[in-house]
Amino acid sequence: MPRPRKKRYRREAARVPRSDAALPEYDRSTVPEGLVTRRQLRGMGLSAGNNEGPVAILRCKLCATRPQWSCAHPTRGYLLRLDLAMPKRTPTLAQEWALDRAMAARQTCPRCHRRYYFCLPLRTQGVCDP
Ligand SMILES: [Zn+2]
Ligand SMILES: [Zn+2]
Repeated sequence: MPRPRKKRYRREAARVPRSDAALPEYDRSTVPEGLVTRRQLRGMGLSAGNNEGPVAILRCKLCATRPQWSCAHPTRGYLLRLDLAMPKRTPTLAQEWALDRAMAARQTCPRCHRRYYFCLPLRTQGVCDP
């Protein structure tokens, strides 16, 4: 007698009718204007900004042939609202100076006041290698 195919049952159970899905789903060709994936945002130099989580799901290529089922595949994407996206944060000049000062403190020897290209073992040794 053949053993029951457990794997198949599990796959059936994972299928959720599309009407029960929590988020609206769109196929790659039917994504409405103003919704983009995180990767697209990055490509445009934007961050998620004020987006509080995804608002829709970009269905995977496989699910294009199964319109009645919700896509639960790892290759699905999450769609964010483009109008809530913000420009990516770049460090200001003051922040860069602060960073440089911090690096200078770690790279400069307190005894001979030479600055090195690497961080000195100030905590253990306190001075540069003579
Ligand atoms: Zn899918
Ligand atoms: Zn020194």
